[in-house]
Amino acid sequence: MRRKTLLLINPANQLRPGFHINRATRNQPLSLGIIAALTPDDWKIKLIDENFRTFRYYEADLVGITAFTSSAPRAYEIAAMYRKKGIPVVMGGIHASMVPEEAKKFVDAVVQGEAEGIWHQVLDDFEKGSLKKHYISPVTGTIQQPKPRRDLFHPGYICAGIQTTRGCPMNCSFCSVSAFNGRHYRFRPVEDVLDELEETPQKYVFFIDDNIIGHNEASKERAKELFRGIIFRGIKKIWLSQSSINFADDPELLKLAYQSGCRMIFLGIETENDDQLEEANKKLNLKQGAKSYSTVFRNIQRQGIGVIAGLIFGWDTDTAETIRRRARFALHCGADSFQTSVLTPLPGTALFDRIQKENRLIHKNFPDDWKRYDYFEPTILHPSIETEALDNEIRKALKRIFFRPSILLNNVKTLFRTRNFWAFWMLSLNYWHYRNIILKGRG
Ligand code: SF4
Repeated sequence: MRRKTLLLINPANQLRPGFHINRATRNQPLSLGIIAALTPDDWKIKLIDENFRTFRYYEADLVGITAFTSSAPRAYEIAAMYRKKGIPVVMGGIHASMVPEEAKKFVDAVVQGEAEGIWHQVLDDFEKGSLKKHYISPVTGTIQQPKPRRDLFHPGYICAGIQTTRGCPMNCSFCSVSAFNGRHYRFRPVEDVLDELEETPQKYVFFIDDNIIGHNEASKERAKELFRGIIFRGIKKIWLSQSSINFADDPELLKLAYQSGCRMIFLGIETENDDQLEEANKKLNLKQGAKSYSTVFRNIQRQGIGVIAGLIFGWDTDTAETIRRRARFALHCGADSFQTSVLTPLPGTALFDRIQKENRLIHKNFPDDWKRYDYFEPTILHPSIETEALDNEIRKALKRIFFRPSILLNNVKTLFRTRNFWAFWMLSLNYWHYRNIILKGRG
């Protein structure tokens, strides 16, 4: 009997390929690896990943496609090619989950939420010729995620992506994590994560959790258990992840993180201004106060771990002066590297609902305009600054933050702060890559 072919596609936003298809910033399409692992052996599976090569038509019986908001127009474009030939297309991922009614117009079936609880049913329905238009996956307790089919990922990925937790109890106005993964912080069994780590070929690992340690004592204990497991099994990986500023609070946790291979942590700082933290509903940063940032960074660096600070520009209360101040803050706050973005209202967020209600979306020819929703340009009409002036101010601030001599100086400081070559090396690379991407991308 002929084996059916499932074609999985990871589309890339074609608007700013220099930014989106960059070796330093691309992440493995983990969700597609999971879908492949959930698919029975009587299917042949092919993965086309536009992070590495532009899509070319490939014969298939069924197509599965995922997309972030900014890559959704590309996903719809590819879906149209298959639908024209009568080949059904199923779409999942964050964008389709946030705007299923839109996605339904462009694909044959939408999977809303996490795939594990529903994919078998999608395949059964396909086999029976009765694919439904809309599948809603239940949010489970413990995450029962199979090991993704890493053999399908392109070998050019520098970092292996591994997820250990999902969900976030916070509800920052600009973030869709809670809407997608729920507000309950959920874990994968530690032993499953350790097994997966042992099998990943890459030396570098990105734990893609939105917050690797969570927000309470139980979640911190679980993170410690994971770190101890890595040390106990002798797994020699260098890893980075994302966390909140409470990462710095517990010396034992920091020590274990370092000993298990952590050399870099991304912290969502967002802004140094308390009013804007309020606007963002960034409760934890507000609680500790923006003044605590330098101490937070120092505590982490002392353990040999470098800090990447995430900063956002374009808050409603931003002025030309506060944008300049944020650039000055970046240069003096003591973080080792930065990821900067323009405040962007993604569907599913409180920010999007508010801005849409206030009729302040600049680009609203959806779905085509979603490609602009990639944190790179203003998409919100600012209450007090003209869009072009706002864009110019942000551009100037970024040029200041990513000014070559400042990077060099900061790289040297990182070496002293962390006394760790790996942290120095990784952060330097990250900083230089990001500088090139962001300045090239912004023109
Ligand atoms: S930004 Fe971070 S803390 Fe805030 S809701 Fe998103 S994942 Fe949670």
